[in-house]
Amino acid sequence: MPNQICCVCGKEGVKSIARRWFCAEHFESATHERPGSWRAILALVVVLIVFVGVVYGLDALIKPQFNPFTLMLVGVVLALVPAAIWLVFFYQQDRLEPEPAGYVLGVFALGALLAAAVGTPLLNNVFRVSHWLYADTLTTIVGSILVVGFTQEFLKYAAVRFSIYNSGEFDEPTDGIIYATAAGLGYATVLNVQFVIANGGVDLGAGVIAMAVVALAQASFAGITGYFLGRAKFGSNPIWWMPLGVTLAAVANGLFNWLRGLITHPAISLTGSAASPWLGLILAAVVAAGLMGLLVWLIRRNIKSALATQ
Ligand SMILES: [Zn+2]
Repeated sequence: MPNQICCVCGKEGVKSIARRWFCAEHFESATHERPGSWRAILALVVVLIVFVGVVYGLDALIKPQFNPFTLMLVGVVLALVPAAIWLVFFYQQDRLEPEPAGYVLGVFALGALLAAAVGTPLLNNVFRVSHWLYADTLTTIVGSILVVGFTQEFLKYAAVRFSIYNSGEFDEPTDGIIYATAAGLGYATVLNVQFVIANGGVDLGAGVIAMAVVALAQASFAGITGYFLGRAKFGSNPIWWMPLGVTLAAVANGLFNWLRGLITHPAISLTGSAASPWLGLILAAVVAAGLMGLLVWLIRRNIKSALATQ
């Protein structure tokens, strides 16, 4: 008789899903849905849009005056808001079966670190994407997928795969999406802080919209990889499984970047430049909510089929 040990903790396995064995405790967690994690993503989408509306409205009404230092400071604080919203709602929803706060923050920090230390230097200084990415439509689509998309999505994947993934705390399929979202928001936070610093501060109204778009997009595409990571840990999958996950995330990332440029670029916008940044935000919110719905459906279907084969 083969060794039937739990693939999460190494104790004696009692039940199996797709040829992986689980102890009673980890079979329970591997077939658990964690609705709190979905609510946290939905709250991020809704609260972020409300927040953007409030900042945009206040900026237009009060027209606050800043010196270069305070403008930069306000911009950097705004860059931190999306991740803070998600973390607050995540912990509020996650009280019943909490993920350890240190791990979620740790993966967030790792996503941020990889963006600052590898992603941005690679894209700006090695590939020098700003010099050629927007040359023509085909270059934009292919470059956004193969260069920008793969770099960003691989680094977010690495932030989860080579840290928490190997730990016993990664004990539910949904954990892949939770930790990948944290890595994606870490990555987005660095992109947004760099955006503020590079521009010496941002126009608050337009800046807060742009930063919300980056946060929603980076978190959503990381969620695709996170779904594949969750399946990879709790089932036996073919060798192309994880490359497929990162590739789908990179394709979504690249197509989004192209589409967003298309609808928010003032020169080709049909609705006038004032409204166009909002179209980017609407696109990002629809993509984030749609991807979340798809992932909820897939995870529910997987759990159902795992329980049915018992
Ligand atoms: Zn176990």
